[in-house]
Amino acid sequence: MTSARRCILHLDLDAFYAAVEQRDHPQLQGRPVIVGGSLRRGVVCAASYEARYYGVRSAMPMAQALRLCPEAVVQPVRMAEYRAASRAVFAIFARYTDCIEALSIDEAFLDVSHSLRLFGPGAAIAGKIRQEVRDETGLTLSAGIAPNKFLAKLASEAAKPDGLREIHPDQIDAFLLPLPVRSLWGVGAVTAERLAAMGIRQVGELRRLSRDFLHRRFGTAGGLLYELARGIDERPVDSEARIKSIGHEDTYAEDLRDTEVMRRELLALSERVAGRLRRKGVQGRCVTVKVKFADFSVVTRSRTLSTGLSNGGEIFSVACELLGQTEAGRRPVRLLGVSLSTLEALGAGQPELFSAPRHERLLRLDRAVDALRERFGDPGVVKAGLLAHPPSASDVEE
Ligand SMILES: [Mg+2]
Repeated sequence: MTSARRCILHLDLDAFYAAVEQRDHPQLQGRPVIVGGSLRRGVVCAASYEARYYGVRSAMPMAQALRLCPEAVVQPVRMAEYRAASRAVFAIFARYTDCIEALSIDEAFLDVSHSLRLFGPGAAIAGKIRQEVRDETGLTLSAGIAPNKFLAKLASEAAKPDGLREIHPDQIDAFLLPLPVRSLWGVGAVTAERLAAMGIRQVGELRRLSRDFLHRRFGTAGGLLYELARGIDERPVDSEARIKSIGHEDTYAEDLRDTEVMRRELLALSERVAGRLRRKGVQGRCVTVKVKFADFSVVTRSRTLSTGLSNGGEIFSVACELLGQTEAGRRPVRLLGVSLSTLEALGAGQPELFSAPRHERLLRLDRAVDALRERFGDPGVVKAGLLAHPPSASDVEE
């Protein structure tokens, strides 16, 4: 049974960085605005809705964005201003509940189940928050209201931009069943293709499959698919949760003794982590290597850099140095892990980085590999020099 009494809001600022630029530069209002690096170099960090209309998206190379929308105004990233605006918006959220889970600088879940008596129904609370955000910060916020996180997020996506959408418990099927399976949390291109091969494209079609069948085809993820297709999601709003790091680790069937083999594993791990960083639109300044030895003792070694990394090769070279600071090679290794923390927006805060053509080339190459992986599945595409890799790995997000 879903807890019918829960009332969850998903609140998401619209085109946040670009909206702050339009707010602070009134001459930009109504015009396509791209926030990012210098004109012909670098990547798009954010695009106003006027620019998105032309197909401009975040993480797109700036040159491509300007081909799509030559009249766009490019504004440099002003992270300090965005942080200040974000703090003001989160302070407004905190007037209504202390159960707030920040998903990023401009997005949060709020559990307002215990605020209803004081402030009225969820939609009324969301309406007040939207009004206060507009009055006090000059920014627009979209809101989804639903009995759980998964549906609240879908609702706010449907409400964007500058809208409010509520999904009542008795409206769940009408909302959910016509959606493409890609809308479900955790369904990526690969799962969507496997489902399409079975003739399943919409949530309504997925709903006809039994839990057993889904479990046989998709393992643990099958159970999740079964529940999400029914609008069930019991995850609590976790006010302690925040993505602090993105990492990947592998436990090996046989202990590793050869440092050359360990280095190849580190390269594979670094590439996977880099792909996930870029998919989330972030880079990390702190690289950590974790080593578990055959006797189950664990050591970690970290290094913080002045620039954020999102490239597998660059992460790998730091990871190798860190591995060299452990007893790996002298003692057999059971597990290796690579993670990045001190996360920041991809390309943010480092304007001089955009003028480095090498970095730009790397990012473009990485994006091409990401596109292939997205299309053909992760283990299918591996850069030259990477060994075939058992899918026993686990992604770690803390
Ligand atoms: Mg947003």
